[in-house]
Amino acid sequence: MIEEKIDVKITPTQESRINQVDWENLPFGKIFSDHMLEMNYINGKWSTPEIKPFSQLSLHPATSAIHYGQSVFEGMKAVRGEAGDVLLFRPEKNAQRFKESCERMCMATIEPDIFVQLVKQIVDVDRDWVPQKEGYSLYIRPFMFATDDYIGIKPSGTYKFLIFTCPVGHYYSKPVKVKIEEYYSRAVEGGVGRAKTSGNYAASLYPAKKAQEEGFDQLIWTDAKEHKYIEESGTMNVVFEIDGKLVTPSEESDTILKGITKRSVLEIAQSMGIEVEERKVTVEEVITAIKEGRLTDAFGAGTAATIAPIQTIGYRGELYEVPMEPRETSNKIKEYLVNLKTGKIKDPFGWIIKV
Ligand SMILES: *Cc1c(COP(=O)(O)O)cnc(C)c1O
Repeated sequence: MIEEKIDVKITPTQESRINQVDWENLPFGKIFSDHMLEMNYINGKWSTPEIKPFSQLSLHPATSAIHYGQSVFEGMKAVRGEAGDVLLFRPEKNAQRFKESCERMCMATIEPDIFVQLVKQIVDVDRDWVPQKEGYSLYIRPFMFATDDYIGIKPSGTYKFLIFTCPVGHYYSKPVKVKIEEYYSRAVEGGVGRAKTSGNYAASLYPAKKAQEEGFDQLIWTDAKEHKYIEESGTMNVVFEIDGKLVTPSEESDTILKGITKRSVLEIAQSMGIEVEERKVTVEEVITAIKEGRLTDAFGAGTAATIAPIQTIGYRGELYEVPMEPRETSNKIKEYLVNLKTGKIKDPFGWIIKV
């Protein structure tokens, strides 16, 4: 396939803020790079994308996304490679997922190869914002929302697509304590759980807050019908090691977000000869395996944290501890994945894209 090269209008900032950044102390998602990319969908087509100084948006009060939630996003990272170059990890996967999220939310779409080009361009313009420090990265937030100024409920005819970036440090520093949720639901079959759409996260705030009041960091969602099957965590997919195999809920139902980190973990595991099972996973099976000492690892997988070890699982008022040692498999996979992303080792998969 020939890549369609797109024109981007670039208006550089007159006053870079890069010297004001405290590179040792980067709170997640609060520091914004100098530029953002903007593209508008009007009259059935996308305008010329523009990279311009990061700024406020001016919106009509009836902007339909604010009222009815046609809004989707992605999350990905650029990191410093060994030689100081800037690397992306499987951006075409984010592009494809973005398109599918847009389709589900009845929004305009962007072809994946265009999406990847736009991500590369904005990262290139702000490449000095990609942190040098090991383990740090430039978080990339592409998003799109409906902009019709009309309060009737119908698919918007106009959309705004933006990308901004944030230099970030480590996401999780300590192992997490999760609660298996049996009342509230994140997604139902036929719903929008598979889409990275804003309302999913709004809906999860209240149940998550209640769990936090009980001392948990996050929830593990279960299926909405029976609360019998494990689904995923807040913004992470979950993987268990049971009887030496990696076990994770399958994506067949449309209630689970198709995580790129999880997919990569499974593919790496398979390449290492580790057995992988994607299937329905019952809560009971997990709890029984912990009790019988057959569950040797549990972790969340997502772009922000890469692999977040789960130390404690709360279920029906009891706390179950997952052994923190040795966690050989997930440590090995995490090390491999981190080395791969930063270009420290050869990339046999073709996942790393240089900016
Ligand atoms: C983004 C997200 C994930 C993780 O996906 P990655 O592609 O690995 O970052 C998992 N679950 C939910 C609900 C998410 O929003």
